[in-house]
Amino acid sequence: MKKRKKSKSRKRLKEFTLRGIPAAPGITIGKAYPLYDEEIVIPRKKIPEKMIENEIARFKGALTKTRSEILAIHKKIAKEMGMEKARIFGAHLMVLEDEVLLGEIIAKLKQKFFSVEYTFWDVLKKYVNVLSKSDDEYLRERVSDINDVGKRILKNLLGAEHRSLEKLKKKSVVVSYDLSPSDTAMMHRGNVIAFATDIGARTSHTAIMAKSLEIPAVVGLESITSSVGEGSSIIVDGNRGIVVINPSKETIKKYTIKKKRFEKFEKHLLQLKNLPARTPDGKEIELAANIELPSDISNVLAHGAKGVGLYRTEYFYMNRKDLPSEDEQFEAYKQAALKVSPHSVVVRTLDLGGDKFLSQFEVPHDMNPFMGWRAIRFCLARPDIFKAQLRAILRASYYGKLRIMYPMISGVEELKQANSILEDVRAELRKKAIPFDKNMEVGAMIEVPSAALTSDVLAKEVDFFSIGTNDLIQYALAVDRVNEKIAYLYEPAHPAVLRLIKTVVDNGHKAKIWVGMCGEMAGDVTLTLILLGLGLDEFSTSPIVVPEIKRIIRVVKYTQAKKIAEEALSLSTGKEVAAMAKAKLKKLVPDIALETLK
Ligand code: PEP
Ligand code: MG
Repeated sequence: MKKRKKSKSRKRLKEFTLRGIPAAPGITIGKAYPLYDEEIVIPRKKIPEKMIENEIARFKGALTKTRSEILAIHKKIAKEMGMEKARIFGAHLMVLEDEVLLGEIIAKLKQKFFSVEYTFWDVLKKYVNVLSKSDDEYLRERVSDINDVGKRILKNLLGAEHRSLEKLKKKSVVVSYDLSPSDTAMMHRGNVIAFATDIGARTSHTAIMAKSLEIPAVVGLESITSSVGEGSSIIVDGNRGIVVINPSKETIKKYTIKKKRFEKFEKHLLQLKNLPARTPDGKEIELAANIELPSDISNVLAHGAKGVGLYRTEYFYMNRKDLPSEDEQFEAYKQAALKVSPHSVVVRTLDLGGDKFLSQFEVPHDMNPFMGWRAIRFCLARPDIFKAQLRAILRASYYGKLRIMYPMISGVEELKQANSILEDVRAELRKKAIPFDKNMEVGAMIEVPSAALTSDVLAKEVDFFSIGTNDLIQYALAVDRVNEKIAYLYEPAHPAVLRLIKTVVDNGHKAKIWVGMCGEMAGDVTLTLILLGLGLDEFSTSPIVVPEIKRIIRVVKYTQAKKIAEEALSLSTGKEVAAMAKAKLKKLVPDIALETLK
């Protein structure tokens, strides 16, 4: 009998791409390891009344075991990654000590006589349900802590081993709905080569962990867990927030090139790290980076940035019930100053509102949150909160070079008011003989068109300007910066935006103050030539783009850049400007163009 011929053409799985939020840079090509959280089903088992005390004892035993496991993780993380990262596990311990939750479980056990596993899981699910629907952001964020601890307790009750990434055998891309801090804390470092998750934002636990582990991560992919199976081929591009599933040979080839380029870039960076960001004809640029958390500073320095051009302090106020105390803030700012010294850290005062809501404050939901009660407007209305932050910054300024910056200034009255509060705080400190840097620079963010157009007036009140293009563009073009439906209208190269930037730079220079940019536009390498030519003195971007920007600055003469900026200002549409800028980049810095324009 003839053997049936084996079909050579195995059906190829269809390639598709998911877009999420870039959480940690780098590119990985590998195999998926889905960490599904199988729905835990617990039989509804009745227990004889006389056994209830035994069930309670089992429950207490599982709590003790869970507690010692969490303490061990806490210790390990504190030792390896610092106390700040270990704080998450403090929240886990709090769940174990929640008397209302534990009391309800014990009461139910005594009333209903179901097994402790069933009773515990039933009560916990109800808690999670209620909390996940809460209006309070802080309470919603506790859901993952409760889930994480809950599963650990349940596994201890069932006598099952806690499934972890610790025993991962092969190098894998971990795909999960979310990654709990315990998952990431205990994982096998060498074998986890990237993360891709359904939920999460830039500051979620997963993102923070991935960055400090220096592995690529994309979060907020929405449906990654339902898109891959164990061993599926997957590409994670943490630079752009893209994940490709079942990539074709051509795609793998394309990403292998991108990956190699990126790695070459990283190496290149080491060579550029200690070199100045100076044009061949001698224009020196201050090249800094943006941070959200003090722990991001190591990344800033590793990428050769000279200081921090924007420290978004509002993240300090998030994920907590209480306000950060003055001392707590002082410690963080002081650490930042010390780590970055001799360079400077621009500490931006609280920028609450817009898309950044804090659970501690009863801030009404404005119809138009980006134009509402936010940032400096909020701080001027709450001098108690504002003063505590100013005092902390001033006190920390004694330990390094700090600069202070107010967000969302829209006119000179606001700026004068903020400065007057700052002066009161200085006077208080002087009275108490508390030392601070008397020459600390004070600046205003220019992110509202009215501020840009009156920057000649504002310049008299400050030592520097930093242009916040994320907001400036949305206000100037009337394009909501977070609405994906009109994203095509959000054009940094729009002539109106360029004219506003030019006005700010010229007015700043006339008043002899320096002008920087800390919005995302400062990190758009296709526009670096124009921004350089417009005369910016400082660029502050995410650390990963610092080397690319430095490379451009180091090879293009300032006189050339000025001509390009002039040409850009003469064009009538954003598209024309963008096309011209790309063509110049291709010609003048071909290696960068290859990396960014493909
Ligand atoms: C900006 O608006 O450009 C900016 C840097 O501030 P944020 O993105 O925090 O609003
Ligand atoms: Mg802003």
